[in-house]
Amino acid sequence: MNQKSIPLNLSSKDAQILLAEIEQKIVFFIDTLHEQPVQNLEKFNSEADWLKDKIPELPSNSQSILDFIFNEIIPPAMNAASPGYLAYVPGGGLFSSAMAEFIAAVVNRYTGMWESAPAAVELETQALRWLAELIGLPKGTLGLFTSGGSMSTLIAMVAAREKYLGNQLLKGTVYYSNQVHYAITKAAQVAAIPKENLRPIPVDNQFRLRINLLEQEIQKDKKAGLLPFFVCGTAGTVNTGAIDPLEEIAQLAAKYQFWFHVDGAYGAVFYLVPELQPLFKGMEQADSVAVDPHKGLFLAYGTGALLVKNMENLRRAFEISAAYLPDSQKDNMHLDFREFSPELSRDWRGLRLWLPFKLHGVDAFRQALAEKRRLAVRVWEKLSLEPDIEIVTPPELSLFAFRQRISHINQIEENNQNRKLLALINQSKKIMLSGTELNGQFFLRICILHLRTHQAIVDTGLKIIQEAIKKMREQP
Ligand SMILES: *Cc1c(COP(=O)(O)O)cnc(C)c1O
Repeated sequence: MNQKSIPLNLSSKDAQILLAEIEQKIVFFIDTLHEQPVQNLEKFNSEADWLKDKIPELPSNSQSILDFIFNEIIPPAMNAASPGYLAYVPGGGLFSSAMAEFIAAVVNRYTGMWESAPAAVELETQALRWLAELIGLPKGTLGLFTSGGSMSTLIAMVAAREKYLGNQLLKGTVYYSNQVHYAITKAAQVAAIPKENLRPIPVDNQFRLRINLLEQEIQKDKKAGLLPFFVCGTAGTVNTGAIDPLEEIAQLAAKYQFWFHVDGAYGAVFYLVPELQPLFKGMEQADSVAVDPHKGLFLAYGTGALLVKNMENLRRAFEISAAYLPDSQKDNMHLDFREFSPELSRDWRGLRLWLPFKLHGVDAFRQALAEKRRLAVRVWEKLSLEPDIEIVTPPELSLFAFRQRISHINQIEENNQNRKLLALINQSKKIMLSGTELNGQFFLRICILHLRTHQAIVDTGLKIIQEAIKKMREQP
């Protein structure tokens, strides 16, 4: 193709042309989302020619590159922008947030240091304050935006380790329910806490951490000369959506004097819905809360947040100075984000949340979250009418797990049948669910959290699930 070369520092005219081309692709993508398959992994061709492309020394035509990206690269995937995406923990791809990300990248403000872009950093800090207030955390709570829940958890654990263990790393013990997300165990692994010091605590029949067993473990460890320093309560587990007894965990953390972390990566934002607030009682006492705007606030992947009561705890773990950087702000109000995490250079993440809050108003998020929960309850109500469907617990937030009981077969066969049920449902390509295991039993999970998931697709999905259940019943 005859190609005019576009300079790196492209002219405003070229920028406009490129923007118009991208706009056309994006608008088409959004317009056709409802007819795109919710997953199209078979479309990936591991033998495709482009996988062997040489380094492109010379320019290519922008239109053909965009065609390639949108036709070849984007489709073979789980379509996490689709309204039928009910697997794992959906997010969204909120357009206004994507625009914020675009603006931030073009103006390229440096938010690792307060001094390099004070207003941009203050605006990001404002978004943090709003987020903390929205999930009911006390005044003065701050923190930082991260790449996601896993990074938030790691930062919290390292801060706790510095505060309570110093160089006695090998003695530190960590507590959490056996339903915890692996972000916690991974954080412990990266923070050099020995594997044998991890304490998964059994759960009750609603999959919530059993508080008396937690206290027993703590006492046993203290007797053995170990140093309990970190407990995680989950506000919305990935398996069943359970919320641990946060208030009782807070009391134990206060009694034994160690760090109380809440993993609210999935669930914490449901605090926005007034009638759900009582479920989170105790969360406000946490030393740190991980919450993922890229889940429940519908942002594209790459925005998590860690909210902490006392910034000094983060500073202790991450502060470091260098002759080639300006002195940092020490008041814990005007934040040098580099003092509070492993990162120095970082993107201007806060705008991705600030701009949507301003543009849509927070009530739009509150209404959307209330809607997701209503839809989850609706599906649960309908599925509980099926005589052979076992549901672990009703959805407290917007997810629940279920399976089909089949008589006269053993557990392994029953698990296989439920895997088949999941495959049958997902074959529809209109909705996508995922699976998990609880006490050795395979369950299907449905999580309604997508920005674009409304009643119509949920009712379609329900029919698909009911038909698949029926088909499984009729099997010999
Ligand atoms: C998603 C999730 C995490 C991990 O967060 P990432 O943003 O994927 O790193 C941790 N805990 C829970 C409960 C989650 O849902």
